[in-house]
Amino acid sequence: MVHAPARPPVGAPPVRINLYSDTQTRPTAAMRDAMMAAEVGDEQFGDDPTVTALCDRMAGLMGKEAAIFLPSGTMCNVIAIVTHCRPGDEVLAHETAHILSSEGGVHAALAGTQIHPLQGARGMFSAETLRAAIRPRTRHAPPQSLLEVEQTANIGGGAVWPQAELDAVVAVAREEGWATHMDGARLMNAVVATGIPAKEMVAGFDSVWLDFTKGLGAPLGAVLAGSSEFIDTAWRWKQRLGGAMRQAGICAAGCLYALDHHIDRLAEDHANAKALARGLRQIPGIAVEEPDTNLVFFDPAGTGLASAELVKALRLQGVQISMLGGRIRACLHLDVTAAMVEETLGLIRAEVAKA
Ligand SMILES: *Cc1c(COP(=O)(O)O)cnc(C)c1O
Repeated sequence: MVHAPARPPVGAPPVRINLYSDTQTRPTAAMRDAMMAAEVGDEQFGDDPTVTALCDRMAGLMGKEAAIFLPSGTMCNVIAIVTHCRPGDEVLAHETAHILSSEGGVHAALAGTQIHPLQGARGMFSAETLRAAIRPRTRHAPPQSLLEVEQTANIGGGAVWPQAELDAVVAVAREEGWATHMDGARLMNAVVATGIPAKEMVAGFDSVWLDFTKGLGAPLGAVLAGSSEFIDTAWRWKQRLGGAMRQAGICAAGCLYALDHHIDRLAEDHANAKALARGLRQIPGIAVEEPDTNLVFFDPAGTGLASAELVKALRLQGVQISMLGGRIRACLHLDVTAAMVEETLGLIRAEVAKA
């Protein structure tokens, strides 16, 4: 079993326009300068001032008592689930959730939990759907203990949960006595798109995390926030999993830089996503979902060109873009300009004309 990056087709030039993922952003020169200048200490000892500053800042931003710096978003999800749940418990999440499809089965392997896949459009589900999934409290049924939502919903097309819908599913969880966890890998995209402050958006959640390596452009790091008690237990798991670090302030400085300089600019990514969707919609035969944030999913099948063919043709012209479940996903981020979006649209129009 190997996970190798897809090899570029023979003869492909270097990538000029990278729409593949916002994880592929590179730290800017100014972010690297901030990292170089970071004050550091031993993070495991609670002695790294830059990590402490980042955690304090994130706890404040999320309106939670405490926060913990972790190497990745996946580790945030693992630690949150293992902290909230006991082996044999059931987690309720959307059927396209990252915890179900993209974390190597870790929640079964390590937490001993099973995940109940909920259905609903665009990576979201209604309070009615959630209610219908409630199991009787018998000796036969797995105990249900955690509600998990993604904001934004990645496979849902970067969709933003409307606040009323979020509040409604949280209310069901509260009635049932479940804990609530938000996978906020792209939470700040939802915050920028709606204007709702993060702490209001996540008020109903016992734990929430933000990834710094997506559109925020840092090379490493995610921060998980919650109550002091929750974070104490999370620290034990961080240590157990080998996630406790040393002079991690070098990385935390990149995250602090992103909080200062890369949040407001997410609006540019959203505008570029809308421009791309608008341009694609004008090409007959391309089906496009209207983006809420920085992800644009489209299907060129109606042009006579299969997704894989179009992806390959673009890659041969230096444009890298991904395929997810038969659709094409374009991801807008700080390394993609409005001019690059126009250029990509021109290349797609030319390919469709040839088809
Ligand atoms: C990227 C992502 C993760 C995992 O984060 P990593 O930092 O890559 O481990 C989890 N959930 C969602 C929705 C994501 O997009």
